[in-house]
Amino acid sequence: MIIQMERILIIEDEEKIARFVELELIYEGYQVEKAYNGRDGLELCKAQPFDLILLDIMLPGLNGIEVLRRIRQFSDVPIILLTARDAVVDKVTGLDGGADDYITKPFAIEELLARIRVALRKKAGRNTYLDPKELTVGELKLDPMKREVHVKGKLVNLTKREFDLLEYLLKNKNIVLSRDTILQNVWGYDFSGGSNAVDVYIRYLRSKIEEPFGEKFIYTVHGVGYVIKDEE
Ligand code: CA
Repeated sequence: MIIQMERILIIEDEEKIARFVELELIYEGYQVEKAYNGRDGLELCKAQPFDLILLDIMLPGLNGIEVLRRIRQFSDVPIILLTARDAVVDKVTGLDGGADDYITKPFAIEELLARIRVALRKKAGRNTYLDPKELTVGELKLDPMKREVHVKGKLVNLTKREFDLLEYLLKNKNIVLSRDTILQNVWGYDFSGGSNAVDVYIRYLRSKIEEPFGEKFIYTVHGVGYVIKDEE
């Protein structure tokens, strides 16, 4: 069984605080990355998926509000701001800028942990809210809420990975996806099994959703990857 640990990024220039929070979060079972300035934090956030970001406002160079603004251009990851006492303007600007919550320094670690749990729960709810609709291609229907797939009205049993892969392809219907992109989004950043895992699972999928039904949904784009599209 693979245990999916939630990944948290701490962007905080006070290294002592960053390390203290990191240790507490690791103890709680989270996976943690740190950045000591806004620019590094932003780069990390672009390069890897995180479930939550703790973002200090007072950072050298690129400040927290600016980092927040730039992250929101490509991600709706939950962000909790770490603010200095009495920095009311920062809090308002931060929340207006799309932060989910803030906590004032110095904070009790229990309070921070509680706020993290709330933000992560909200995130889980947010995903469900954003994607309740059925995904279809031809006579294939995928219901993300029930996690069911029907082809020509017949229920098809898929493993979790097969389902996730199919869902990802369907969400990106008509977009050619490289093996690496698929790996990162379906298997996750930490996966080290090599990109032929994608080919293997595409074969599994085809044997379940295409071959028994004489249908074709997944197309191989040689030298690139895969795409799901309506039959031409
Ligand atoms: Ca600071």
